[in-house]
Amino acid sequence: MAYGGSIKKVKLDKECELRVEVALDGPLRLRLLSGTAEIFGTELPPEIWLSFPPGLKFAVFTWYGATIEMDGNTETDYTADETPMVSYVNVHAVLEGRRNRAKASATDTDDSQGPRVIVVGPTDSGKSTLTRMLLSWAAKQGWKPTFVDLDIGQGSITIPGSIAATPVELPIDPVEGIPLEMPLVYFYGHITPSANIELYKVLVKELAQTLERQFSGNAESRASGMVINTMGWIEGAGYELLLHAIDTFKATVVLVLGQEKLCSMLRGVVKSKGNVDVVKLQKSGGVVSRNVKVRQKARGFRIREYFYGLTNDLSPHSNIVNFTDLSIFRVGGGPQAPRSALPIGAEPASDPTRLTPVTINRDLLHLVLGVSYAKEPDEIVSSNVAGFIYITDIDIQRRKITYLAPCAGELPGKFLIVGNLTWVET
Ligand code: ATP
Repeated sequence: MAYGGSIKKVKLDKECELRVEVALDGPLRLRLLSGTAEIFGTELPPEIWLSFPPGLKFAVFTWYGATIEMDGNTETDYTADETPMVSYVNVHAVLEGRRNRAKASATDTDDSQGPRVIVVGPTDSGKSTLTRMLLSWAAKQGWKPTFVDLDIGQGSITIPGSIAATPVELPIDPVEGIPLEMPLVYFYGHITPSANIELYKVLVKELAQTLERQFSGNAESRASGMVINTMGWIEGAGYELLLHAIDTFKATVVLVLGQEKLCSMLRGVVKSKGNVDVVKLQKSGGVVSRNVKVRQKARGFRIREYFYGLTNDLSPHSNIVNFTDLSIFRVGGGPQAPRSALPIGAEPASDPTRLTPVTINRDLLHLVLGVSYAKEPDEIVSSNVAGFIYITDIDIQRRKITYLAPCAGELPGKFLIVGNLTWVET
């Protein structure tokens, strides 16, 4: 790896942060020379050079003062002395108190449930970052909070088009993210919920129910609670989906980032629920806005990372099978009944969870498919997925399909789900 620039030393005063955007043409090395500092809730080890990939945006924050050394090029790097970190850590302290109370309560009573936090706000308000901090701070104190990511556009557990959950047992690595043992993943197949709002809701419900079952047998997870990241769509149907998520996950704390209006709307609605706190938090001035193109690129990177690893450290397998070896289904979309079968004047409604078998043809090229754990087709909508495959070739004449999978051998399930999630390998 080439590190271009000269070494730069930055002294940070207490409660200040160094905001960095790594240059696009090369990685950046950074180390903590003295003091203590953290990146989004995860402490930096002293004196060890850490490498950050091109384009990464992050902040090194210090509570008590630190000296940082940087080696390499950045798009920007500057020090900020105004951050909302104190208010964020205060939220953490309140959650901590609730976790301790939950731990001290008798198992399987309502009181043994730790805080269920949902982070909401417009796009680029810092939701994922705050989620990450709350999880890392909790994990540092020995809890195992569950991270739920409902953001199908820019999620951080698995590939786009999915909603997922995973326990977080260690502070999240600023570069590598969360080590994933067995995340619980439901594949929606689209990057915007408007493609099939009802299906999105069904999957959110399935995820919540599965977590509920897991929690009931696990006092530690229950007391640790969950932190739920959401999408930046907060208007119209997006707002309805937020309310749906708050209800479905029985959220007890709603953190609203950077939007007065959303906060007061939510306060009005959840007031009637009694035990839900809606807390307004300031957006950090460090959050970097991303346009459509940048988001698209980020999605491509996430898919690439799934198959090849962050640093090309994984070797996916290319497999060739017969058309008849795969059963591919699309969920939703098609009309439920032909017009002729409906009463006069009625419009055919499309059933959001209707399964349609997909005929294999070249339209499947470059699509990413979910491999369902379902044993029967009628279990597909309610089943989570084992992982994903990527279609790289379709040979109509020989009736062969070539796909990329994370590992060799037979797929863990025979039913595949397709939406419109595409990726062009570069
Ligand atoms: P989305 O609209 O995708 O839901 P979001 O609200 O979750 O976005 P984040 O992903 O948390 O926003 O932040 C957007 C970008 O800003 C990320 O690349 C993140 O690393 C960066 N960022 C957040 N806070 C800071 C900070 N204090 N300093 C520098 N960069 C930051």
